[in-house]
Amino acid sequence: MKILVINSGSSSLKYQLIDMNNEKVLAKGLCEKIGETNSNFKHKTFDGREFEKLINMSNHKEAFVEVKNILINKEYGVLDDLSEISAVGHRIVQGGSLFKDSVIIDDDVISKIESLIPLAPLHNAAHLHGILACKEVLNVTQVAVFDTSFHSTMPPKAYMFALPYEYYEKYNIRRYGFHGTSHRYVSKRCAELMGKDIESLKIITCHIGNGSSITAINGGKVLDTSMGLTPLDGIMMGTRCGTIDPSVVTYIAEKENLSFSEIDDIMNKKSGLLGISGISNDDREVIKAANEGNQRAILAHEMLRYQMTKIIGSYIAALQGCDAIVFTAGVGENQWPHREAVCENLAFLGLEIDKDINRNTVLGKEGKISKDSSKISVYVIPTNEELVIARDTKKLLEK
Ligand code: ADP
Repeated sequence: MKILVINSGSSSLKYQLIDMNNEKVLAKGLCEKIGETNSNFKHKTFDGREFEKLINMSNHKEAFVEVKNILINKEYGVLDDLSEISAVGHRIVQGGSLFKDSVIIDDDVISKIESLIPLAPLHNAAHLHGILACKEVLNVTQVAVFDTSFHSTMPPKAYMFALPYEYYEKYNIRRYGFHGTSHRYVSKRCAELMGKDIESLKIITCHIGNGSSITAINGGKVLDTSMGLTPLDGIMMGTRCGTIDPSVVTYIAEKENLSFSEIDDIMNKKSGLLGISGISNDDREVIKAANEGNQRAILAHEMLRYQMTKIIGSYIAALQGCDAIVFTAGVGENQWPHREAVCENLAFLGLEIDKDINRNTVLGKEGKISKDSSKISVYVIPTNEELVIARDTKKLLEK
């Protein structure tokens, strides 16, 4: 069984074709700058054949046609016929309170995803373009896998904001959490690596990338997570500010005479590592500057590490214990100095990291970085959201 996984953004479409017999990625690629004059198409096969070309793609349907064509292309393809694709799995960011699990997409699901657009305007609208394009181009079962659904086990005490209750009733204002597919994958994998039943474990998963979130998982169920109504909340990120005093918004808006959408833009695109360091949202650049003594880059890292420690610490209290901490995503998987610093901050709890193993567990390596004597086990687990989407799609198809 072969499954095509789609992550459709506002001007991009990422895909992976996975053979579910051995969970091998047959091909993957990316259409960028859809709708612009210089759209770019990149494609790579499992055996190293690469294709990259500027192709004009004015909408998601045109991008989808390019994807379809390359998959059966004589030189760069991996399929003899499109009928080999059994189903398509889509990543959907916002499932609100409507979707607690992955579902087969029908007209009702499409209209529900549409109804959630106000809660995730950029993301859900883009996902719908992807779904509709796929419907037109490929006649196969489509499945929606939501970033939010893993977090649907959160209790009200964790997901409610202390605002007048009517806003929850009228507009569903609450914490939803994101990156759920990643937190689900790495927490399950952590239990496997520990050789224990996930139901017996308290795990804190740290997905630290360009977007970042930290999740407290008790017995396989999410108790709390750092992102909120939108992916802006929680820990500081590449360009997002994370949690700040809400009054800052009205104060700056007044002082700088900014509209809400302008201030939204600042908090989402000009803050975080970029805003503090003034250098980049890419942590590789920030670390380089910090190593050269740049004070604002150093401050950005001090803040990031402090915030990670603070959130993990608060989740250890919320969970009333912790068996394992997992680091994942671009920064979590690669930036070992942050992991070392955060783990050292938690040494008072009996957490002992093996510094050499930590340094060497980068670039896609998976493994335990704590010492056997450590009271809390620490793992680096490369995330694989596409695989989770493909597995869910397969499961629903077999039902
Ligand atoms: P996204 O949230 O967009 O999925 P990623 O998980 O890919 O982001 O993480 C992007 C971040 O990961 C960047 O800040 C980058 O600096 C960092 N990163 C990615 N690869 C490496 C690497 N090999 N070494 C150090 N940092 C890396």
